[in-house]
Amino acid sequence: MNLSTRLIITSRDPGDPHRATAAPIYQTATFEQDDPDRFGAFDYSRTDNPTRRVLETALADAENASGTPSLRGGSGGAPSARGGAPGALAFASGMAAIAAVVRLVRPGERILVGEDIYGGTDRLLRQLVAPLGVAIDPVDTADSAAVADALRAQTRLILLETPSNPLLRVTDIRALSAVARAHGAILAVDNTMMSPALQRPLDLGADLVIHSGTKFLGGQGDVTAGVVAAADPDLLARLAFIRNAEGSALAPMEAWLLLRGLKTLPIRIDRQQRSAAAVAAFMAAHPLVTRLHWLGDPSHAGHAAHLAQAAGPGSVLSFETGDRAISRAIAAGTRLFTTAVSFGSVGSSISLPSRMSHVCVPEEARRARSLPDDLVRISVGIEDPADLVEDLRASLREAAAQTPALAR
Ligand SMILES: *Cc1c(COP(=O)(O)O)cnc(C)c1O
Repeated sequence: MNLSTRLIITSRDPGDPHRATAAPIYQTATFEQDDPDRFGAFDYSRTDNPTRRVLETALADAENASGTPSLRGGSGGAPSARGGAPGALAFASGMAAIAAVVRLVRPGERILVGEDIYGGTDRLLRQLVAPLGVAIDPVDTADSAAVADALRAQTRLILLETPSNPLLRVTDIRALSAVARAHGAILAVDNTMMSPALQRPLDLGADLVIHSGTKFLGGQGDVTAGVVAAADPDLLARLAFIRNAEGSALAPMEAWLLLRGLKTLPIRIDRQQRSAAAVAAFMAAHPLVTRLHWLGDPSHAGHAAHLAQAAGPGSVLSFETGDRAISRAIAAGTRLFTTAVSFGSVGSSISLPSRMSHVCVPEEARRARSLPDDLVRISVGIEDPADLVEDLRASLREAAAQTPALAR
């Protein structure tokens, strides 16, 4: 069955005694035990919760982390539920998920990290992980020679995003997974930009796939959540231990919201991606745009590599104008694109990464990874694409008018 069908099936709790068609929210901290000597299927929601369990089963299935899950047999009831854990774990946020993955690395070991990564990941690694004695090696993972160069005997984890955010650089996941395997390192791919509707890193050889569920998975911009999926049960068990020990699991209500969002993931991605293509075509032809980063563009450096591992270009694009003031005016002048960090919501958004999502990346690091000050990132939502293009046209016209040298 295809993902759009599977997500509808897996969003239900097959073990629900009342056969609810939407998974119930188990808003409870504890579960009563039959006997003080014996735990039931669930005992404490920090550890495991039936609503979160339905979500995790759906996510594991979406990322092919556990093959096809059993569509019968309950999340409650069977004491064996704990043994048959789904291959995904839901966290309170994307950062909580990444923080758990990073815990797999011990002091004295190293993390090789993609150069163009989410600002919060950069901050976590530089300011919290490096001081604990874990060396961080930022590398352009699109360049396999650079990766080979940067690998050390102590490299334990390779963490990357493809396509990267906000520059949309592409790393060949199959090639990197071969490198990681040969080296005995864990390969973790942050799949937030694509979602499982477009790219499934575990199928391409990655050991772990990470999501900020706050973006496409939830899709409505109303929940903060994170996910890690793994094919290897031992790796998953270690992450479940870390999550329980640190208390970073997703709450039941949030799990339910994410589950609701997940059902419409494929249909949203399809619409957003088609609208993004229309927006990209308009931007590519506009004289104010000096450079467009859009994976649907055959002249994009990562176009072929991306389409060899993903089903489409997604709905995030970025562009440069050569002038920060113009970029600022464009972002400020749009009416339908909300000026906001984040992406992947049904509502379109526009941002200046160097001032917003990536402002916590030190300036010299922004320069090293060539993150330009005038870069504008757009996330295309589900509004009518003609309205979105009209809005951008008006904002670009206004920005040009404010810059007489450019008004033509
Ligand atoms: C937003 C984001 C994160 C962090 O997720 P939160 O849910 O905001 O904690 C991690 N990686 C990427 C690629 C992101 O876009």
